[in-house]
Amino acid sequence: MRERNMINEKIVKEFKIFRNKLIEEIYLQQYMEWLALTTSSSSDILSDIIVASTERVKKLECSQKFRNILDEIVNNPMNFDNDIYCEAKIINKRIKDNTKIYSRQLCNALLNVKRNYILAKQKNDFQIVKPFLQTFIKIKLKEEGISNYESILSKKIVEISSQQVTELFKSIKYNIPLLIATEEKVKYTNCSKEDMDKILDYLIDLVNLNERSLEIYKGDESFMVSFGTNDVKISLNYKEKNMFEFVTKSCHELGHALYEQGNNKNHNRTFLSGAASTTMHEAIAIFYEKFIGKNNLLQAFISNELLDKPECFYFTPAPTPIRINASEKNYPIHILIRYEIEKGLLDGELKVNEIEKIWKEKYKEYLGIDIKNSNEGILQDPHWFNDKFAYFPSYIVGRAYAAQLKNEIDKFMAIDEMIKINDLSSLNNWLKENIYQYGAQYGPSELLKKSTKEELNCNYYLDSLHLER
Ligand SMILES: [Zn+2]
Repeated sequence: MRERNMINEKIVKEFKIFRNKLIEEIYLQQYMEWLALTTSSSSDILSDIIVASTERVKKLECSQKFRNILDEIVNNPMNFDNDIYCEAKIINKRIKDNTKIYSRQLCNALLNVKRNYILAKQKNDFQIVKPFLQTFIKIKLKEEGISNYESILSKKIVEISSQQVTELFKSIKYNIPLLIATEEKVKYTNCSKEDMDKILDYLIDLVNLNERSLEIYKGDESFMVSFGTNDVKISLNYKEKNMFEFVTKSCHELGHALYEQGNNKNHNRTFLSGAASTTMHEAIAIFYEKFIGKNNLLQAFISNELLDKPECFYFTPAPTPIRINASEKNYPIHILIRYEIEKGLLDGELKVNEIEKIWKEKYKEYLGIDIKNSNEGILQDPHWFNDKFAYFPSYIVGRAYAAQLKNEIDKFMAIDEMIKINDLSSLNNWLKENIYQYGAQYGPSELLKKSTKEELNCNYYLDSLHLER
């Protein structure tokens, strides 16, 4: 028995050495990406460092010794501490999902797509990248043995079955007339940099973010990177002209930051930190964007009292061709179009040659929009040109999570009342207790069930859009 314990201790010690090296490399890469987007550091040098680090990661993950250690832990959960067991499971999954070793041919094909996508965007012409995308998909399907869309979808979004996805999009398609029926009220109030500073100070205070461990970059893109509970960085779009857009998009990033800051401190620098899944992370950000940032009381307070600027608005009858600018009601239609096209492509029913035409036809048919050029159409999202197929549905699943969480939270508190007294601590405590603190310890389905006492139920989302089902 004592001997067994000593062997296990040795395994854990070795596990931690590998794990720490991996985490260091991941942080290094994240930090380089942060520098690339927030400073004028030479992008050549940064990308050299990233590439070298990626190679070291691959080497670590391919190490037979490391894999044996992981197997030993995963196959003998009783012999190890639960945290170590969970971490080993997470790393194992990561290795399975990520270390598909691209062949040189596939690697080159993808690089060509990425490069020519940038070029195509500059020239506003899909034709430039089209042949490269065609070649890439052909090699990808063959090398990865993909026969249909479903096989990719089930790997990408673990939280929902392909059948649920099919049903969800069927509902969305059936409800298109309802989703485009109403005129959208768009609020618009001009805001200056000083206004944005004021709003940001107010929001950080409102959502109880710890300022001491938060770095904010005022740039022209919105995103978050995290190095554990005491070092979270967000970039916010300070080029934004519309105060209301600034409020909602900032709330989105603050939501991501809250998730990270709310993790269990003991999980810092381990694979247990972070989120149950990227979709769950997105769900929390969407929650803050939709239910805090878009809250009418909050917007009225910021506009009338904080900035002393009257709320202006106009009505727009026309949907936008751009996904990220779409209204909450139109949004699922944008995703439906992408879903139908990528499904067609990977099921072998659509050719790359046809997709720009089909894109235009679907925008006309579903949203009544004439797409004027490639940038406004098929080139607007980078996903397909970065090998991110079957990723779009996760945006809808994230919304479904957010709606289900909202339904549960409404049982315990009233967000409007909390906004009236400028105090969201009950909401933050609930989310911390039920979601954030677990980091990546539980998978998304398990965590959702634990926190809402129910499996994923997309009806909350469909109901929030007042759709028929
Ligand atoms: Zn996000």
